[in-house]
Amino acid sequence: TMLRVAIMGLGSYGTRVAEAMEACKKAKLVGVISGTPSKITDWQAKYDIPEKNCYNYENFDAIRDNPDIDAVYIITPNALHHPQALRVAAAGKHVICEKPMALNAKEGREMVEACKNAGVKLLVGYRMHFEANTLEVIRMREAGAFGEIKFFQGLSGFRIGDPTQWRLDKALAGGGAMMDIGIYSVNGARYMIGAEPEWVTAQETKTDPVKFKEGVDETIMFQFGFPGGVVASCLSTYSMSNLDRFFLNGTEGFAEMQPSTGYGPIKGKTHKGPLDKPHITHQTVQMDRMAEIILEGDTAKVAVDGEEGLKDLIIIDTIYKAVKSGRKEKIKLG
Ligand code: NAD
Repeated sequence: TMLRVAIMGLGSYGTRVAEAMEACKKAKLVGVISGTPSKITDWQAKYDIPEKNCYNYENFDAIRDNPDIDAVYIITPNALHHPQALRVAAAGKHVICEKPMALNAKEGREMVEACKNAGVKLLVGYRMHFEANTLEVIRMREAGAFGEIKFFQGLSGFRIGDPTQWRLDKALAGGGAMMDIGIYSVNGARYMIGAEPEWVTAQETKTDPVKFKEGVDETIMFQFGFPGGVVASCLSTYSMSNLDRFFLNGTEGFAEMQPSTGYGPIKGKTHKGPLDKPHITHQTVQMDRMAEIILEGDTAKVAVDGEEGLKDLIIIDTIYKAVKSGRKEKIKLG
């Protein structure tokens, strides 16, 4: 059996996911939800999507009565994830939602609750959790190859263009670089170290207040404390191109990855040698694994559910709080 997926939001990333899904063995694109009729007809032709599986943002609640769609993959601007996920859950369909799962922890919690109450799964598009070299570093860490983990560095950024895009609009993005790209270092610190941060300090710098308006962060440096004195140091920015590097160090060795979260191939090495697992399109592996998680209830070694997305939102809320207060802030994940 295949997971039959409808994509909501036929923008640049939705297009990438749809193309990657053509190589999937367990997931299939069968429907679309879009506000642009011409995109719908293009996608219908390209992916052989029947008229009855096409919806717009006004009428997609009717997906409830469509037995041929199992899950909706929400790939719209950040602020829409929460209201759209609640509607998909109410329609009784599984929710796959892009990162950031929502704008803040309050919204994230409501999404987790709504999906639980509706009896549907909620997964977040954290594709790195399925990437082979990333999984190899995690496997090595769990096997003790790096000794006791002591330090992680995460650098996440790109130079953002068009100042009129939704990513630079606080109402649609919920923030700036942190919501969009800094989240990779937040989530990465957790999966690379294999623990949850207890506190954070953070500092913001802004060189262009015209492009990066109030509430839209350009650059934030942040530091986490983990149990046992483990520390992490991270940078989130919209002002440096191709900033994409993870570094993990323990008492016995290290792993470094650059690029570490881009579309790949992920490259890097450990003190034992190069990371050389073959590259497979991330979104292909992600959607096949998500199909297994949803259809077969396979949750082994996967940290991409709503609870995980919510943890990142709690941490990001606390980073913004630490930027404002200038103090070390406690992270309350419980
Ligand atoms: P995009 O601007 O290319 O596409 C967004 C789509 O949403 C467009 O088709 C647009 O028409 C549609 N849309 C619907 N309602 C809208 C509204 N009110 N305002 C603006 N657009 C509206 O953006 P994208 O790069 O595809 O990003 C979409 C989501 O995917 C974001 O949440 C982003 O963080 C996430 N994303 C994830 C990855 C990843 O690697 N996991 C990569 C890129 C983007």
